[in-house]
Amino acid sequence: MVKGIGVSPGIIIGSAFLVDRWKIKIEKAIIKKSEIDQEIQRFMDAVELSKEQLGQVKDKIAKEIKDKTYTYIIDVHLLILEDQSLIDETCQLIKKEAVNAEWALDQVLLHFASIFDAIDDEYLRERKTDIEHVGERIKMNLAGNTPKSIEDIKADVVVIAHDLTPADTALMHKGNVKGFATDLGGRTSHTAIMARSLEIPAVVALNNISSLVKTGDAIIVDGSQGIVIINPTKKEFNKYLARQRKFIYFEKELLKLRDLPAETKDGYRIELSANIEFPEEVPSIIEHGAEGVGLYRTEFLYINRPKLPEEEEQFFTYKHLAEQLTPLTAVVRTIDFGGDKLHANLNKEHETNPVLGLRAIRLALQNEDLLRRQLRAILRASIYKNLRILFPLISGVTELIQAKAVLDSVKDELRSENVSFDEEIQVGVMIEVPSAAITADLLAKECDFFSIGTNDLIQYCIAIDRGNQHVAYLYEPLHPAVLRTIKLVITAAHHEGIWVGMCGEMAGDPLCTMILLGLEIDELSMNAVSIPTVKRIVRSIRREEAAELTYKALILPTAKEVEQYVIKEMSRRFPDIFSIVRSKDN
Ligand code: PEP
Ligand code: MG
Repeated sequence: MVKGIGVSPGIIIGSAFLVDRWKIKIEKAIIKKSEIDQEIQRFMDAVELSKEQLGQVKDKIAKEIKDKTYTYIIDVHLLILEDQSLIDETCQLIKKEAVNAEWALDQVLLHFASIFDAIDDEYLRERKTDIEHVGERIKMNLAGNTPKSIEDIKADVVVIAHDLTPADTALMHKGNVKGFATDLGGRTSHTAIMARSLEIPAVVALNNISSLVKTGDAIIVDGSQGIVIINPTKKEFNKYLARQRKFIYFEKELLKLRDLPAETKDGYRIELSANIEFPEEVPSIIEHGAEGVGLYRTEFLYINRPKLPEEEEQFFTYKHLAEQLTPLTAVVRTIDFGGDKLHANLNKEHETNPVLGLRAIRLALQNEDLLRRQLRAILRASIYKNLRILFPLISGVTELIQAKAVLDSVKDELRSENVSFDEEIQVGVMIEVPSAAITADLLAKECDFFSIGTNDLIQYCIAIDRGNQHVAYLYEPLHPAVLRTIKLVITAAHHEGIWVGMCGEMAGDPLCTMILLGLEIDELSMNAVSIPTVKRIVRSIRREEAAELTYKALILPTAKEVEQYVIKEMSRRFPDIFSIVRSKDN
C-alpha cells in the first residue's frame, strides 16, 4: 500500500497503464558563430511546432467536449509558449555562448525552476511543472520526436505516471482512463483540478509509484483516502470492491437530489452554492446541484504569474463566468493575497506575522490601481446582473468605507466613459476577523450581505495559525466561541435585513449542517462534491429539530463536549452518511 494525497474522491479497481515518458538527455554542444542564426531558427521552429501540436489537441478537445476546463489548461501551455522571457532568454544564450538550442533552453528552464522553488507557496510551486511540461515538449520537437500521448489508450485503464501534463489529462475525457496516480503533484495542481472535474479517482504525490508499477498490474486507487494498492490480495480486493460499491451507490442516490431545493421537511429553504478557484469549474458545480457560486477566489487568476493580468483579461474571465452561470449568481471576491497565499510581486517584504500582516483588502487598498483594475473588470462583466462583489478580511467599518469609496470612484469613472454595469450590484463583507464579527451590526448597515469565512475566523478567534500542525488540535469549528461568534453575526445581519452566507470549510462539513441551519444561516458555499450530502441532511430534518440541537449545543462549555454531542446526534440520524464521511477521513 502506498500513501499519497487523494485529490479526487472515489475508488477504482483496474489494470495499470504506465505512461513511460522518456526524458531526453541534454548535452552541451558549442556551435560555430556562423551557425547561431540557424540554431535560433531551429529553436523557433520547435516552439512553433509545439504551438501547432497544442493547437491541434485543443481543437480536437473543443470539438468533442463542451467543458472549457480542458481547453483552458491547454491555453495555459500556449501562453507559456508565447512568453517572451522564455524565448528571448533562450535565444540570447544561444547567441552569447554559441551553444545548441537544447542546452540553452535547459539552462533557462533550470533558472525558471530555481525562481519557483524559492517561492513559499504550494500553488505557485506547482505552476513550475507547467513550464517544465512545455519545455519537455519543445525539447522533444528539437530532437525530432513526437511527444507521447495517452490518446492511444484503447481499453479501460488506471494511468500511472511520474507526472501528467495537462495536455495528457485533457485527453482523458474519452472515458478510457478510470483513475490515475502520479509520483508528483499536489492538491492545487491543474491535474488535480482536472481529475475532480472529470470525477475520476486520483492520488498524487506518491513519490515513486511509477517505478513500482508495470503496465498490466492490478491496481486499486482510492482517491478518498489517498491510497494506492498494487496487485492487491484477495482480501484487499474484496474490501475495496465493497467500499467502491458503497461509494457509487451513495453518490448516485445523493445526486438524485440535484434538482431539488435544499429545503427542510417543513419548507425552510437555504441556498447551497459552490466555491471555485477557476470559472472552468462551473459545469461540474452545476452537475452537483450548486445554486450558484458562493465564493470565487480570484487570486488564483493572478497567482501563477509574475505579472498581474490586465483589466481586459480579467474582464473576459469574469464575463465568461457570468455568461456560463446566468441566471445563477456568482460572488466574486477581490484578491486575497498575503498570509499563506503569497505573491512574488505583491508580498515583497518579509513579515514576521504574515497572517496578521499586509494581506487581502489591506494589500488591495495599498495597491489601489490593482484593486481599481479588478473592480472595473468585475463591474464591466456585471451587465448580466448576476455578479456580486465581496471584500475579504474587512476588520471594521473604516476599511469597508475605504473599499466602497474605491468602488464608487470606479463606478463614476465607468459612467463618465458611458460603460454600462449593474448599478444595483450587491457588495458583501467577509466576516473573518473578530473585530468585524463584533461590529457586525455596524457593518451590516453598510453592505448588502455577509459571507462568514470560517477558515480565517476560527484562526483569529481561537488565535491558532491555521497552517501550523503543532496547534492543529486547537482548530475547532465547534468551539463555543466560534458558535457564539457565528450566532452574533447572523443575528446582527438579520436585524439589519441583509442575508448571510458561509464559505469556509465548515459550510461543507456535514457534521455542522444542522447547527448552521439552527443558527439560521441563509447560504452555505462549499466544495461542489459536498453539496449532495449537505442537501440530503437539510431535506431530512425539520427546522425545529435543527433549532433544538443548536440550542443544546450552544449551552455546552467545551468544544469537545459540543463535538461529542453533535457526532452522537448526527450519527444517530444519518448513520449512512457518517460511516462514509469517517472512512473518507481516516
Ligand atoms: C475563509 O477564510 O474561510 C475563506 C473562505 O477564505 P480563504 O480560505 O480563501 O482564506
Ligand atoms: Mg479567508
